[in-house]
Amino acid sequence: MSEQADPTTQGRADLVAWDRSRPTNHFEIDGNLHHLLRMHLGEERFQEHWPMLMRAGELSAQSMDQLARESNRDENLPRLQRFDGVGQQVEEVVFHPSYHELGAQIWSTGVLSVLARPDSDVLCGALAYLVTHNGEAGHVCPVACTAGLIKLLQRVGSEAQREHYLPRLLETDYGQRLHAAQFVTEVQGGSDVGLNGCVAVPDPQQPGHYRITGEKWFCSVMDAQLFVITARVGSTAGTGGLGLFLVPRKVNGTINNFTIRRLKYKLGTRSMASGEADFHGALGEPIGLPHRGFKNLISIVLDTSRVHNAVAASGSMRRAYIEAQTFAHHRVAFSRPIVDHPMLRERLARMRVLSSAAVSTTFRILAMSDRLLGDPQARPDEELTAARRTHVNINKYWTAIKCTEVVRDGIEVLGGNGTIEEFSVLPRLYRDAIVLESWEGSHNTLCAQVLRDFAQRGLHRQWLAEVRDAVERVRHESLGEHHDRAATVLKDVARRIDHLLAAGEDYASLHIRRVVDRMCLLNSYVSLLLELNWELEQQITSDKAAVVDLYRLLYIDQVDPMDREDLVPLFEKVTGL
Ligand SMILES: Cc1cc2nc3c(=O)[nH]c(=O)nc-3n(C[C@H](O)[C@H](O)[C@H](O)COP(=O)(O)OP(=O)(O)OC[C@H]3O[C@@H](n4cnc5c(N)ncnc54)[C@H](O)[C@@H]3O)c2cc1C
Repeated sequence: MSEQADPTTQGRADLVAWDRSRPTNHFEIDGNLHHLLRMHLGEERFQEHWPMLMRAGELSAQSMDQLARESNRDENLPRLQRFDGVGQQVEEVVFHPSYHELGAQIWSTGVLSVLARPDSDVLCGALAYLVTHNGEAGHVCPVACTAGLIKLLQRVGSEAQREHYLPRLLETDYGQRLHAAQFVTEVQGGSDVGLNGCVAVPDPQQPGHYRITGEKWFCSVMDAQLFVITARVGSTAGTGGLGLFLVPRKVNGTINNFTIRRLKYKLGTRSMASGEADFHGALGEPIGLPHRGFKNLISIVLDTSRVHNAVAASGSMRRAYIEAQTFAHHRVAFSRPIVDHPMLRERLARMRVLSSAAVSTTFRILAMSDRLLGDPQARPDEELTAARRTHVNINKYWTAIKCTEVVRDGIEVLGGNGTIEEFSVLPRLYRDAIVLESWEGSHNTLCAQVLRDFAQRGLHRQWLAEVRDAVERVRHESLGEHHDRAATVLKDVARRIDHLLAAGEDYASLHIRRVVDRMCLLNSYVSLLLELNWELEQQITSDKAAVVDLYRLLYIDQVDPMDREDLVPLFEKVTGL
């Protein structure tokens, strides 16, 4: 007869078993990601990059996880050192060694170097997604900012700028790399960028160069070697007068005429240094034409950051689900593993479905980017470019909100332990999720931009056409009912957009967010359906059909679970890893 352990010993043994059960490779266990990448990259490219993805998945689950915990401890956060021991101005940020060790591992995954080939957003996104299973980790913002500069140089940089900067921006060696920051926000407003007061005046001594003067209020990656800065050129007010400048941290080994006031003491993304800085005639060179600064900022720099933001939200959601799902199988309450309590199972099912939807919509955008950049000789596809712009804005908004929701649910599954920093990654993910909601465009700002794009440029037409085309691609014989449901929702969304645009300005700005919510729900459903359609065509066995059914019932049809007994088996089916 086996001896029953006392409850204390058993309780601790369960926690130890949970800790040991956690995955050791975030890529290997993610069957959904494998299918998704096969679909978007094609089998050959997927196989070619398998070793790279496996390595990133292993680092993410093992050493990166440990290093992120270490570098985020209160006592290890970055600190400002403005002067060296003999009083020379250095304007440096001092990091804990674990921060740099982590950075070396992240850069070594190739997350940035793959961008040397322009149609690599899916691959870059997959690597970043694995890294962001550890939240911001102090380096995800620098990676996004550096990716933004790479794309900026590739698309509008001069030949000389590309030759000079790109090789080191694309480095895998952390010690050799150049990394970038983006300083746009000023104290008078982040959303209303047209109020920017920083100015750029031509430097008569150095033709082609400008001197930048003014204050920037939110400067993340304060340690970067290259700053991308917005500054006003000439007297034109508003966003039309803004240029985009590349400002090196140092010129000929000397600090480039800027001072750091302080580092911000933040809620989230804490191990990454965000500061406030003053520029006193710093030397900068324009990237692209100065009068197109705002256009390039929105269409290249912020576009890249917004997609990376969605990748980070998706990776954090997936990690929250892994933590909660594994915990629920080991934690026992009222004589059974908590996963067997129906209310808790439903919570997990919702987490899984929302995370899958976020991954789906985000990788669909990454695949659009690759299609647009695949053939540099081809004529730009203006319809897809326009549709993608709306997709990027609504997806940044939606995934950030869902991330906070899913991570909070994960904390609930872990109970009181879920609030403890040493116990799991979740408190840190939660703090980072709130930041993901604010930067790179706050919710209302993104919705307001969508409304402007629709009202002034008619971009709803291209977005609706793209989604209509996607719905028509859902052709598998078993998906007829889903196809028809998606087509009906699409008609309703189109009608609401028309109604909004025909109404007065105040009405439209009051209700655009509600319309965007419906656009996001529809797009999530359609994106998941496209994956299911592909999996069925490939005769792949997975739980995607259950994920799609549940998504439709809970979020499209919004059924009352009390009236639907068929939800219970779906909750069971979708709560595997
Ligand atoms: C940790 C962190 C790091 C950051 N790092 C950087 C960085 O490196 N570089 C950088 O440039 N910026 C950075 N930011 C700034 C960030 O981009 C801004 O905070 C953001 O753009 C919002 O600007 P704001 O804070 O000035 O808010 P405000 O613009 O003052 O907005 C306040 C509120 O008003 C709402 N609002 C604004 N306009 C409208 C409207 N038309 N209709 C309805 N509601 C509206 C907003 O949605 C928001 O809820 C960072 C922010 C954080 C939190």
